[in-house]
Amino acid sequence: MDAADLPDEVPHPARPGLMLRLVHHHAGDAPVNFRCDGCREPGEGTRCASANLVLHTHCALATPTLQHPLVRGTLQLRRHVASDGDLFCQACYGDVLGLHKTSKGEYPDLHPCCAKLPVSITVRGGLTFELREEVSRRCSSCRAMEGYWSPWCYRSTNEPRVYLHVKCIKEIMPVLFGGGGGGGVGEVLLVLMRVVAGLLLGDPTAPLLAVNLIFPSNW
Ligand SMILES: [Zn+2]
Ligand SMILES: [Zn+2]
Ligand SMILES: [Zn+2]
Repeated sequence: MDAADLPDEVPHPARPGLMLRLVHHHAGDAPVNFRCDGCREPGEGTRCASANLVLHTHCALATPTLQHPLVRGTLQLRRHVASDGDLFCQACYGDVLGLHKTSKGEYPDLHPCCAKLPVSITVRGGLTFELREEVSRRCSSCRAMEGYWSPWCYRSTNEPRVYLHVKCIKEIMPVLFGGGGGGGVGEVLLVLMRVVAGLLLGDPTAPLLAVNLIFPSNW
């Protein structure tokens, strides 16, 4: 969703009666970092806020249900409660501490931002990356092969195929936004990383870095 399309006020997705106001991050302003009170993940820039709460725009606008091409069944939006125990996000392998998408307590759980990641990203230069749940080659960032673990990753559709875990993009976010490089990865991968990292942080300008994005069906 483009920043200009965001509503000025939205109801909190899990707290009836609580309204959240859109707080813009205009180009040129220093982006404001925050910790989302919905999903407990880091955010940056444009956000939805009340007097005491701040949420990613994608958490504030999270739909109650989601169909995702990588997930069987329907994902439901729910809050993490103590009886859930330890949950982790299947896409990024990070801890799930707040709002998340789940298919009735069964595999997998997903952060709202991870559930919303594009299933296809075409970056400048024409390379297209597809979101996958399993890979057969090494990740360009961590160089790890799949074993018993399988965090989601982006795979280039062109040969030679390139793989990048969502987890690894997330880990490199502070470097990406601190003006540094991307740990020696190529320029195209750096653009992919910036798009994905920007979307995870809720930066509505991030999609502009890509030529084409395809999102999960009904988001
Ligand atoms: Zn959030
Ligand atoms: Zn995640
Ligand atoms: Zn990796």
